[in-house]
Amino acid sequence: MISQKSWADDMAEQSCLLCSIIEGQVPSKKIYEDDDLVGILDFNGANPGHSFVLPKQHFTILEQVPNFLVGKMFNVANRISSAIFDVLKVHGTNLFVANGVAAGQKVAHCMVQVIPRLEKDGVNMSWSPKQLSEEEMSTVEIKLKDEIGKIGLATEVKPKGSGGEPKAAKVFSESEGEDNYLLKQVERIP
Ligand SMILES: [Zn+2]
Repeated sequence: MISQKSWADDMAEQSCLLCSIIEGQVPSKKIYEDDDLVGILDFNGANPGHSFVLPKQHFTILEQVPNFLVGKMFNVANRISSAIFDVLKVHGTNLFVANGVAAGQKVAHCMVQVIPRLEKDGVNMSWSPKQLSEEEMSTVEIKLKDEIGKIGLATEVKPKGSGGEPKAAKVFSESEGEDNYLLKQVERIP
C-alpha cells in the first residue's frame, strides 16, 4: 500500500465514506483486495454484481492516480468483469469512471465501476449525438493532440520493486496547476 500521505490527504480521508469502508469502519462486501486496491460490491448497484475498484489511498479523480495504479485499477476491473461474465451470465459489462460532478461523480474518491449489463435492463448510458462541423472537429483535434503530447508521462511513478517505494502522485501537469476544472468541481461535493 502506498504509505506517503500528506496532511491534505489525511483531511480528505477523514470525510470520505469510501476511505471509511476501506479501513473497515463501515461494513462492505469486498470481492477483491491487494496492497493497493480493493474491489467492493455496490449495495445500490444498477444490476446484481455492480462493483467498484478503488485505490486504498485517497485520490479524488483519475488524473491524480499514479500511472502504475491506473493500469492496475483497470486490470483488476477487467478481472472482475470477466468473473461477472462467467458467473453471473450477463450479456455485457460497462467499465465506468466518473471524473467530476458534471460527469456524475457522487463520492470524492476515484473508482472504476464495473456494471453488469443485461439486454433491456433499463440502465441508461446513452446520449444524443451532437453533430460538429468539420471546423469544430479540427479545432478540438489540434488542441487535444497538442495537450496530450505535453502531458506525456508526468504522473508516472515507479511501481514497487523497481527502485523504491512509490511516491504520492504528482497531481497535475504544470500548465494546469490550481486551475484544474475537474478537481474544483469535485471539491464542491459536500
Ligand atoms: Zn477516500
